[in-house]
Amino acid sequence: MIVQSVRTMSLDQAHEAPALARLVAAAEVGGAPPDDEIPLYAPRRKIYPQSVHGTFRTIKWAAVVVTLGIYYLLPFVRWDRGANAPSQAVLIDFPDSRFYFFFIEIWPQEVYYLTGLLILAAMILFLMNAVAGRVWCGYLCPQTVWTDLFFSIERLVEGDRREHMQRDRQRWTIETYARKGMKHFLWLMLAWWTGGAWVLYFADAPTLVKELATGEAPFVAYAWVGILTFTTYTLAGHMREQVCLYMCPWPRIQAALTDEFALNVTYRYDRGEPRCSAKKAEQLRAQGQPAGDCVDCLQCVHVCPTGVDIRGGADLGCIQCGLCIDACDNVMTKLGRATGLIAYDTDINIKRRMEGKQPFVKMMRLRTALYAFVITVAGSVMLYTLATRDSEGISVIHDRNPMFVRLSDGALRNGYTIRIVNKRLQKREFIMGFDGLPATLIDFVGLPPRGDGQMLLDVGPDQTREVRVLVTDYGARPLPSTPIIFRLTDVATGKQTEASDHFFGP
Ligand code: SF4
Ligand code: SF4
Repeated sequence: MIVQSVRTMSLDQAHEAPALARLVAAAEVGGAPPDDEIPLYAPRRKIYPQSVHGTFRTIKWAAVVVTLGIYYLLPFVRWDRGANAPSQAVLIDFPDSRFYFFFIEIWPQEVYYLTGLLILAAMILFLMNAVAGRVWCGYLCPQTVWTDLFFSIERLVEGDRREHMQRDRQRWTIETYARKGMKHFLWLMLAWWTGGAWVLYFADAPTLVKELATGEAPFVAYAWVGILTFTTYTLAGHMREQVCLYMCPWPRIQAALTDEFALNVTYRYDRGEPRCSAKKAEQLRAQGQPAGDCVDCLQCVHVCPTGVDIRGGADLGCIQCGLCIDACDNVMTKLGRATGLIAYDTDINIKRRMEGKQPFVKMMRLRTALYAFVITVAGSVMLYTLATRDSEGISVIHDRNPMFVRLSDGALRNGYTIRIVNKRLQKREFIMGFDGLPATLIDFVGLPPRGDGQMLLDVGPDQTREVRVLVTDYGARPLPSTPIIFRLTDVATGKQTEASDHFFGP
């Protein structure tokens, strides 16, 4: 049926359509080209997306406002963590190796939380895809959001689709150059704002804004603003749909993840075919012959930001933005026909309608239940571990070369580097002790000896402290390796934390 609908295109229309349509149209005039004549890379066609009004356009504008609002304002949101920590709610603090997200502070050794966040994000993406296709691509992806804004600037300066195409076809005048110059200037300004906002996540935002404006910011900040300005200008201004078609892996991944029950932007060919003009449809219907609702006006293709003809069926280039739904609904409304010729639907429903059965939407399926389950479990585990994680830590590194030293009196000595972590925002005192070898002497290098094999250590707020420890064994030790334990006790609370290692001998 899809191929049949494609066969009704003229060659001009087929040029606007996706690969399948072009191949079938080519087959109409001279037979399908042999495989070795099909080019591996289709030459780029410049896309002039037409503006459109409607429900999905409004949703897209709302998504642009919300996502950009969050992106630009978030660095300025404050979060009081006390005197010894930054007050920016979301901050990637490279100099101190910390990531702050409101009440959460991630240390470098807790990078597994970021792994958990990535798993959670992937599962949410999979769930969105299983319910309503590429919602992320159509409404939330930064490439889509910025390309949308760049298109709006282009339309504002160079006119809507028809006007812009006409200008590009005609001989370029001073006005054409002036318009193009203005467009690129505005694009660069928008790209510059993007780069500028991104660096605000890496330093105190109000301070950095002041420094950037007065030329006092570090060189690396200017460099990153420049790099991000250039990449945004290139990706959203020049490469646009090419990023979605060739660079992004998500279309391929989602094609493997989707199933027949996922709602996708779908041309209801059961209703649209055979295509014919409104007048012809009236005549055919009067004669009792079938006539579809699609009037072949190509409005759905003209508004598409990736140049897809959704009537050719599922297409990797379709980012599921829903703009073709708005375009077609507007056409149907003008013709006095029911809207929804293109809509979020499934091929199963199309087949059911053709068989005279009721269409249905099946949200609860094994895969959606599974994704929801994994999201709940991963989210709960992360929340639990975050809420109950230790506010102190101890790690031990044994000296590598040499592993042990024999002293002149026959005793064996091993060296260790011990790192104590205090994640609280107050200074804390710890007693460090040792277990595992009965006849030992513990020497905390650079610290006064206490005589009881323990040491009182203070660690500053939100800091780590490194201590060199030499353990000397005077006993008769037959084993080449003996397990030992370093124990840290919080003086205020009595809470203990341990780290194990080994004492090595010949
Ligand atoms: S075919 Fe429709 S939903 Fe898909 S990208 Fe084009 S306009 Fe958006
Ligand atoms: S906008 Fe609707 S009527 Fe026009 S070509 Fe597309 S599907 Fe057919």
